Amino acid sequence: MKKRIGLLYGGKSAEHEVSLSTARAVIGALNFEEYEVYPIFITPEGEWRRGERLEKPASTIEELQFGDEATILENNITDFLMDKNGEATQFDVIFPLLHGTNGEDGTVQGLLEVLNLPYVGNGVLASSAGMDKVIMKQLFEIAGLPQVPYTYFIRSEWVNEKHTILARCEEQLNWPMFVKPANLGSSVGISKATNREELVTAIDIALQYDRKIVVEQGVAAREIELAVLGNDFPEVSVPGEIKPMTDFYDYDSKYKDGSTALIIPAELPAETVTSLQELAKRAFKAIDGSGLVRADFFVTAENNIYMNEVNTMPGFTPVSMYPLLWQHTDVSYPVLIDRLITLAIERYEEKQ
Ligand code: ADP
Ligand code: MG
Ligand code: MG
Repeated sequence: MKKRIGLLYGGKSAEHEVSLSTARAVIGALNFEEYEVYPIFITPEGEWRRGERLEKPASTIEELQFGDEATILENNITDFLMDKNGEATQFDVIFPLLHGTNGEDGTVQGLLEVLNLPYVGNGVLASSAGMDKVIMKQLFEIAGLPQVPYTYFIRSEWVNEKHTILARCEEQLNWPMFVKPANLGSSVGISKATNREELVTAIDIALQYDRKIVVEQGVAAREIELAVLGNDFPEVSVPGEIKPMTDFYDYDSKYKDGSTALIIPAELPAETVTSLQELAKRAFKAIDGSGLVRADFFVTAENNIYMNEVNTMPGFTPVSMYPLLWQHTDVSYPVLIDRLITLAIERYEEKQ
């Protein structure tokens, strides 16, 4: 029997557009002989829309947004389980193709848990831990992973003790520093500061996005990423290198100007590759990952390694780092999608 797969995409997040491209690519790669494909679109305003079962891959992004006639599920999110005749679809698996807040942060995962539906990727705990840079760093610290020095604070502490916080940053960290909202991705709200004045500005910017702020010591290093795939016994890909042409890997270089080069496999000594692969697995376990994560590192000229972060729903278009890393590790895009779906069902069955 064909598996019924619900694809959840769009979303009330800064990464809405990225999610739409991902959805189109994933639908294009799914074998329609094997899957019944049901699109579920979340508008930028957070409205859920259930589309008709797809007979073939969508040829345009517009097609995935259903226009104005779509069933709008404004009263009850769980209406996405019903078709337009009000009959419940028995989904075999839900594939959330959502990035950032309300998608990658454990909230949608919680909804799917409550509905007792199998879903692709990380669970509630791993998703939310991966979304909060402070919690993530603390888990990595406990797991003994190497990281750059950092400090953090919340808005009310900044309001009351600005000078203490600035003194703490200057005492504990060297310039330049990177200032980040704790709960975002895609480099949104992140700035680099090379002196106290810039630090204050950077903190004010980051506070527009979050009440919790991380300040990190900057490192002059290459950015190396590895893909992890699996549940209890995860596999790790070859490493890839990100070469942004801008000062750092900011939002525009990620999505807009296309100036970033991806070098796969990254040129690194064999022992550095082995260390990175081992650290990537430990990072996956540190957050209790399942399905997939992309583990991101800084590697200095002396091949010192620092863990930067894990992303629990990394960019997933065919030209994104995560699928490309697997492609270079002999796992094609359609095979990768099948593996993720199988892992989701295995994890669900193990829990029952
Ligand atoms: P996001 O989750 O938004 O991707 P990151 O922590 O990965 O946030 O930071 C975004 C980018 O900023 C990184 O890819 C890197 O280019 C730069 N960056 C972040 N922290 C540092 C650091 N400590 N030293 C040097 N560059 C950094
Ligand atoms: Mg991130
Ligand atoms: Mg990053």
